[in-house]
This record gives sequence, structure tokens and C-alpha cells, in this order.
Amino acid sequence: MHTPGHAVINLAILSGAVTPEHTLPIVAGAILPDVPIVVLYLREHYLRGLPEERIWSESYQRPFWLNLIHGAHSIPLTLLGTLVGVATGSSLVAIFFGSMLLHALGDLPVHAVDAHRHFLPFSHYRFISPISYWDPRYHGRKVALVEALLVAGATAWLWRDSSLTARLLLSAVLAWYAFSYWKAFLR
Ligand SMILES: [Zn+2]
Repeated sequence: MHTPGHAVINLAILSGAVTPEHTLPIVAGAILPDVPIVVLYLREHYLRGLPEERIWSESYQRPFWLNLIHGAHSIPLTLLGTLVGVATGSSLVAIFFGSMLLHALGDLPVHAVDAHRHFLPFSHYRFISPISYWDPRYHGRKVALVEALLVAGATAWLWRDSSLTARLLLSAVLAWYAFSYWKAFLR
């Protein structure tokens, strides 16, 4: 899934069960697994001037980045963090790692050739899904549309209880989805 969608969907799933002070840990946990990808992209594209194709085929494939990215998408590690939060009575920690766990579970069914090793450190297994959230060879066009519609639905769900700032951010995410879809599939 796309990073902003994780934040909106995780908020829709989790925020009803917790107090507003948990909003930040939900968003942070939803975004964190993809932060290394963003750092890698910005570094390679803007500092080193590499074209996008080489970033994904070369830089992204280096063990350091793959281990970092896949480790942040690990179901056992994020589950452990969630359980530590529950066991120590820290709802902020539990919600933060729980949101990371939801991110990993959200990515699992929609990554094909770029599947993460979601079971580190116990296994290097990668589930190569028959569908992808971006790759047209794996129904990317349809899956991306379904993801965008899910995010729109989650936005509608969150709208009533959201502040003006939150509504502006939610609108920005929807606009970004529309733009990305147009750029990838309709241009
Ligand atoms: Zn991810």
C-alpha cells in the first residue's frame, strides 16, 4: 500500500478504540516502516542524481536497505512490540507497534515482485502476491483503484470527528491519491 493510505486506514481502524492522544502514535507507526524507503529515494535521487529506475533496481536492492525496510515490516517484531506495550501497561507503545503491525499486514497481500520478508528474523520467506498495489503486470491498475476507494471510505468515516487541520490533511491525502493514480495509469 502507499504510505499515506496506511495512516488513514490505521486511523479509521484504531482511533475509535482509543483516546485522541493516541492519534500521533497511530500515524507514526503507520508511516515508520516506509520511512527508510523515503530516505533512500531522497538521498539517491536528489543527492546522487540517480534516475528512478536505478534507485529501485540497484540502491533499493542493497542488503543494508533491504534489511532495514524488511525489518520494519516484520510481523513478529511489530507483534512483539505490541505485546511489550500491553504487558508494561503502556497503551501508547502498544498502539504505536500495533499500527506498525497493521502496516505490515496491509502490505502483505499487495506486494508481488517487491514483497517484503514479513517474517524476519525467523524466516526469509517472501509471499509473492498475485496482485500488486502499483505494478500493472499484477493487476496494479485495479488494486490501486480499490486502495484509493478504501482510503476515501476511511476518510469519510473519520471526517465527522476530525478537526479542521485533520480534515485538510485528509483532503491532501485524497488529492495525492487522485494525482498519483492519474500519473501512473491515466496519463
Ligand atoms: Zn510498507
